[in-house]
Amino acid sequence: MSWENNVRRVVPYTPGEQPKVSDIIKLNTNENPYPPAPGVQKILDDFDIARMRLYPDPNAEILVNALAETYHVKPNQIFVGVGSDDVISMAFLTFFNSEKKILFPDVTYSFYDVWADVYQIPYQTVPLTEDFRINPDDYKIPNGGIIFPNPNAPTGVLESLDLIEEILQANPDSVVMIDEAYIDFGGESCLPLLEKYENLLVIQTFSKSRSMAGMRIGFAIGSEKLIKCMNDVKFSINSYTMNHITLLCGAETLKDEAYFKSSTGKIIETREQAKKKLSELGFVFPDSKSNFIFASHPDYDAGAIFNKLKERKIFVRYWNKPRINQYLRITVGTPEEMQKLFSALEEILAEGQ
Ligand code: PMP
Repeated sequence: MSWENNVRRVVPYTPGEQPKVSDIIKLNTNENPYPPAPGVQKILDDFDIARMRLYPDPNAEILVNALAETYHVKPNQIFVGVGSDDVISMAFLTFFNSEKKILFPDVTYSFYDVWADVYQIPYQTVPLTEDFRINPDDYKIPNGGIIFPNPNAPTGVLESLDLIEEILQANPDSVVMIDEAYIDFGGESCLPLLEKYENLLVIQTFSKSRSMAGMRIGFAIGSEKLIKCMNDVKFSINSYTMNHITLLCGAETLKDEAYFKSSTGKIIETREQAKKKLSELGFVFPDSKSNFIFASHPDYDAGAIFNKLKERKIFVRYWNKPRINQYLRITVGTPEEMQKLFSALEEILAEGQ
């Protein structure tokens, strides 16, 4: 016998590369190219380190209340965590607790199967259609829960509220989680459906549209019952997930709606221009309503383009996985960064295979 026989073994999620060099163009992890709302700087400048002595508020009230006001729900309908990864992981642990398989698309956020494995939750992946769409009928089978992102990642494809409602109607006995990490880039949030469906959990993040990936703030909005269940699990693991600074900066960010609208607006505009340019270069892609484009070139190998971009210090994301190994996921950066990407792609395509 050895302790090694009793280890909980998992194959971990592989996050996108965070290169340590500075003169690169980083379009590989869907970060926002613009800084957070300017008020955040003042919060940091004014923070008194004497407060560090004390534990932070375990109920994260300042942030929860600000979120409740922003999204017009009650504070006890909100759960906050260390990025939406933490929130989704807690939601898996809380709600996906049956013998039945949970369902999520075959092409989706590659953390879902990792959480399912680590928590020993049985799962079944549901193939997206040829053009990366969800067929709601596929989700009308017995299941232990459902999760998918909307817009989906890494495809960028947005599904309608009608489709989400159809899935909710067919699944009153499961918790249905909609991961809205990218919803602020032109999608319609399914938050209004909360009025009708007690089993809907909507998850969002400050990492993309609010430029705070480094701060680690995610949140879920759901019925009071769902949120109470999640908090019971959270308070059984770690009461103090959100630190003082994060709470203050998160609440501050939410005050600046004008900045939020302008920075997401700029990204949407750059994305639409990028779609035109990529089409001109011969790339094809599903229509994206997120801050990235999932592009493939009929005449060039995606893995080869990925490596050639990397040689030129331009980082995009590539997965050597079934169905998607001829695609590159390109985060929408500033117009200047995108221009450099297009020039590099022109060069690479001119070189030939
Ligand atoms: N959901 C999806 C679909 C994502 O792409 C990401 C980003 N990797 C996350 C959740 C998690 O983001 P964060 O933990 O930074 O909120």
